[in-house]
Amino acid sequence: MTTPPRLAPEGHLEPDAREARRAFLAQRLAAVRARIADAAQAAGRDHTGITLITVTKTWPAEDVRLLAGLGVRDVGENQDQQASAKAVACAGLSPALSWHFIGRLQTNKATSVARYADMVHSVDRSSLVSALGKAARRADRELRCLIQVSLDGAPGRGGAHPDEVPRLGALIADQPLLTVAGVMAVAPPLEPADRAFARLHRVRERLLADHPDAGVMSAGMSGDLETAIAAGATHVRVGSAVLGPRTPEAALTPHI
Ligand SMILES: *Cc1c(COP(=O)(O)O)cnc(C)c1O
Repeated sequence: MTTPPRLAPEGHLEPDAREARRAFLAQRLAAVRARIADAAQAAGRDHTGITLITVTKTWPAEDVRLLAGLGVRDVGENQDQQASAKAVACAGLSPALSWHFIGRLQTNKATSVARYADMVHSVDRSSLVSALGKAARRADRELRCLIQVSLDGAPGRGGAHPDEVPRLGALIADQPLLTVAGVMAVAPPLEPADRAFARLHRVRERLLADHPDAGVMSAGMSGDLETAIAAGATHVRVGSAVLGPRTPEAALTPHI
């Protein structure tokens, strides 16, 4: 089963479809966990130091609940509207899920994101730091912030220039409910990922010198998680390898 599951009108799967989807997710999740363990071993690292964030964007809250039942604790979303609805739909789960906001973030969405996100991976400019700081105070919640780094300087995909990272780190640390937790990047398309991720690791080392809690290196997706783990990633963000390929229609009309 590789196509999105059929949902009943109320947004829940029919029992048979639900069982098939659970088995599909269980098998793919196990395969991704095995890839992480193998990559950690190849790099001489302890795999317990690597957090799998399952990226559930475009997939329904029902999938998030099935994944939670399979032991997933960290989920990633890249769009506030989808993420906030799913966080509400999954609010009763125990143990609670940690929500990672991994997409480009407009300042006017900060208030909403601060209500459910535990970690924001895409902090890349000072206006967003102030907006998140204010939003965290309003929500009275702590937000762990990763500075998204642009590894090729291309505009459009987000991310700060590596030279901007120390200044952004200081601004985040000045906000009472924000913490500097580390760095995040997406591999640029035109450079070998190992070289790009090695640069990200150096940016993280420099940040860590000023902020002892900034140990997170969020890098690696379905296609390059091994390369990221070899370079020192502590958090990998994996979507399609667990949930199946996202269809263009699903990206346009997410079913919550
Ligand atoms: C969608 C997304 C991912 C997951 O991508 P896959 O290739 O499906 O694993 C990771 N990081 C970010 C920022 C994303 O938007």
